[in-house]
Amino acid sequence: MDLLVVPSSPTLPVRKAPYVCTEHWDGGKYLDYAARKGRMSTVSPSLRGFVTAGATQTDAEYLEPIHPTPQAQQQSFFQTWFFFGLLAEFLGLNEADDGTRQIDEELAKEEIESLYQDFVVVDEDGRRFISGGKLLEPGMGSHLMDRFKQTRQGVAHRAKYLHDCLQFTCAMLHTGIHTDFDRDVLYSIAALGELFCTSFVTAANFGLLPNGLPHFSLPWSQNYLKPRGELEKHMLENGWCKSEIEKLRWVYQGLGTQHFLSRMRKEEPHGDHTGCSADGCVAFQLDETYRPRHATAGCACAFIGAEHVNTVQTILKTTKGYPVLRFDTVIDPGSVDGLRAELTVEEYSDEVPYVAISHVWADGMGNPKENSLPQCQIAKVASLVAELGKTVGTAVDASAPAYRFWLDTLLCPVERVGNAISLARIKDVYRNAKHVLVLDASIMRHRFESLSAAEALLRIFATSAWMRRLWTLQEGALAQTLFFQFADKAVTAQQALEQLFQQGRNDLRYMRIWIDVFTEATNLRGWFHPPFNHPSPKSHEMLISLQRSLHFRTVSVPADEPICIATLLSFSQQDQEDIIAETKRSGHAGMARVWEAVARFFFDGRLPAAMLFSADATLDIPGWRWAPRSLLGANAGAAEGVMDLNTRMMRFHLAHAGIPTGSSETAQPELLTATASDQGNSSATTPASASSDRRTTPRQFGIPTPLGLRVQMPGLILRASPLLPHLPLQPWEGTFNRPSEDYLFVREPATQQWLRLMDLHRARRGLMGELDDKQDDDDKNRRQGGASRAGSTPLPPPPPPLTESVCSGRCAILYDPDAERAGIRYCLMVQLEPGQESAAGAGMMRVRRDRMVLVDVASAGYALLAETLRGLALEVAAHEATRRLLEVGEGSGDGEEREKAVEGVRRVMKELMGRKCASDAAFARAVRDCIGFNLEQFMWAQIPVRFSHDVTAEVCEETQVWIVD
Ligand SMILES: [Zn+2]
Ligand SMILES: [Zn+2]
Repeated sequence: MDLLVVPSSPTLPVRKAPYVCTEHWDGGKYLDYAARKGRMSTVSPSLRGFVTAGATQTDAEYLEPIHPTPQAQQQSFFQTWFFFGLLAEFLGLNEADDGTRQIDEELAKEEIESLYQDFVVVDEDGRRFISGGKLLEPGMGSHLMDRFKQTRQGVAHRAKYLHDCLQFTCAMLHTGIHTDFDRDVLYSIAALGELFCTSFVTAANFGLLPNGLPHFSLPWSQNYLKPRGELEKHMLENGWCKSEIEKLRWVYQGLGTQHFLSRMRKEEPHGDHTGCSADGCVAFQLDETYRPRHATAGCACAFIGAEHVNTVQTILKTTKGYPVLRFDTVIDPGSVDGLRAELTVEEYSDEVPYVAISHVWADGMGNPKENSLPQCQIAKVASLVAELGKTVGTAVDASAPAYRFWLDTLLCPVERVGNAISLARIKDVYRNAKHVLVLDASIMRHRFESLSAAEALLRIFATSAWMRRLWTLQEGALAQTLFFQFADKAVTAQQALEQLFQQGRNDLRYMRIWIDVFTEATNLRGWFHPPFNHPSPKSHEMLISLQRSLHFRTVSVPADEPICIATLLSFSQQDQEDIIAETKRSGHAGMARVWEAVARFFFDGRLPAAMLFSADATLDIPGWRWAPRSLLGANAGAAEGVMDLNTRMMRFHLAHAGIPTGSSETAQPELLTATASDQGNSSATTPASASSDRRTTPRQFGIPTPLGLRVQMPGLILRASPLLPHLPLQPWEGTFNRPSEDYLFVREPATQQWLRLMDLHRARRGLMGELDDKQDDDDKNRRQGGASRAGSTPLPPPPPPLTESVCSGRCAILYDPDAERAGIRYCLMVQLEPGQESAAGAGMMRVRRDRMVLVDVASAGYALLAETLRGLALEVAAHEATRRLLEVGEGSGDGEEREKAVEGVRRVMKELMGRKCASDAAFARAVRDCIGFNLEQFMWAQIPVRFSHDVTAEVCEETQVWIVD
């Protein structure tokens, strides 16, 4: 499809969308086409609000999911409506929503007919295809703009209506198609929709539209990079990492961008990604086998640098500065080529400019054992630095001193004390550098001049290892000017962005890519270079930005994370030094200090209470056992993380201060603001990110105390009680295999409602449908290759049964009423500290974190299931067989006797269940709906699994105070 661009050497042939229409567009009201054609049964009721009042058939039954339209018919219907109809709409050729027309009807008819010449091409075999090329011709943009402004209804009304048309089209593409719908037809429509959206976004950025119009940002790329789809398979075969593809889904929202990336060649895969999963990447982790490499294969030159360690240490320990390196080639008659490389360590002075190197250790320029590197590597770095100096530095002033350089491998002592001092000054190192030069093997492989600006930028931001590592984030963010080294030259992202922007002015397909890359670049640089689209400091949105920036990055030494966060959040020098000192004790201790500083720095000593509801690993430090251990999703994902980016951002959410989203439209207004202001455009709206923490309620914050986080929020105390007074909680031990339950039934006595309680880790698969497959695949992947690889850990064991936690007699759950989503509450299950058992309703309860659970109110079907199962359980409990089992259980333990008693109980359960299923039609239906078909012979086990005892929930008021650890 020619509305989507590809890189210079795409990995897939360019595909054409077949022309499949069986009739021409009629020029009527766009949104009413299905009504005119008697096909409202294909439009989901949720979308019928778009259809003009008075249209026919708006109450037609929605039959598409049950009786799907034959594929060919649906494709041709969609192409007529959503390709040619949409084109006609934007060219002002359709009847407007008020029944008026913008241009004469006859002329409109003629122009519509001409669309079928202009947008359909015929190949040599006579096959017809869709082409969007006409839209990209010069003058087309202003023609569309003229037609847009010709409206009789006012520009604002017209823009809103066009937005409705696009929104409706986008939603129909996602709801109204079948799995085998032709992807080329589908994405030719989506590409057209996206192009129109981009034209509005661009016009707004240039100040060509009035303020207050809807934002034209719609998810045209949804499902394009479907997990386990053909395209993902193709990319994996081309050396992509699963987590990299996952990053594309989140970060690059444009269909055009995803299309371009999916076809970008990854010559020589960067790192080995066979052990990676969608949630985690292990390719750049360093392990014991890591060795520095020579600049060229086969080179065996000597290592140098270690001889300067003492000078480095002296500078660090006796001054407030840091060392830099000078590289000279001196004449040495004794050597083979008569020359010798000489390295000198100098103390930094602000009169002598230097270049700080930012690199990925996995590329081979690191050395964890000593401060040395092969001479050839150092010579190469030195020559790149000199080259940079020639092009941007001394070219201006020939008398300026040659650039020195800073390279962590040589100048960060491996020895502990020097290392700590060096880490504390690393912010200055990158901030004071004249330039920061990025050396990443995957970027350096390409000549900048041979790439399009789009490809160069995507190779930097979307596919480089440099963007996947933690340390490089602050190195890139702190830089005054940031250069990326390509094979032929070093360029800044700004240079390439400017090129792409100019290209995008003439060809909007590139503008969509520009929007995505610009956002990514701004997110990176915005930390220290306002104006930016980062929120004002000291708001919870800063934490959300931090989460977004860190999620797809990894680090080899987990204890480095707190140090990097301290830099990014601009903690005081003292805090930074404290955190470095703590991390030398343990990474957990360092992270606890980070949260403590975040509380002090951002929230007057408080923290968002939503942080409690974090499903990922927590710290192992008393008082902080509730707090997130890491923000690095790709690191955690390789081990045990289960949260996607959005869920991770939600934990820093304050309910009344705007809902954060990472994936969809709401990410965009923020972008627009930055885009517009960046071009000095006066039409920029006020930043959307103004924090409104003032309106927060007390329960939104917790106060960190030495005993844990003190919060005020409602909760439930769970109490397990035997079915009959004389029975134990588990009267039927041995009659069934205790699984780790998918859910437990809990009764709320006050309301008599049945609740379902689910373990979040277990429930996540069931809830996310599609993710199920993806997860299984990942699991398999990890089990096969991942487990033995460096940095990858085996899958965590399944969670212990919920029953164990509930039967402790000290179990409670806390929840945030504001965080309820789709009727499901995300709750924290806790255990009351000893001595607090009877304190329900007391002023304050000390509790220990157990796990995350989900709670929902049982549907009618599940409630009937619960009621009936409990009735049956009571019958079994009162039965002679149960008494017999308990008797032998307590007795001498004669194996045969016990087996007989167990079998006796099973028999009773089977009989009762069999009779119930056969006689109670409503129950049988509930079983079918809630559990599945043909399960009669296993259903008996539901009795002991769900109702070995009762669990009731006692409500704690909103004013309940908890101290969670
Ligand atoms: Zn990977
Ligand atoms: Zn060498």
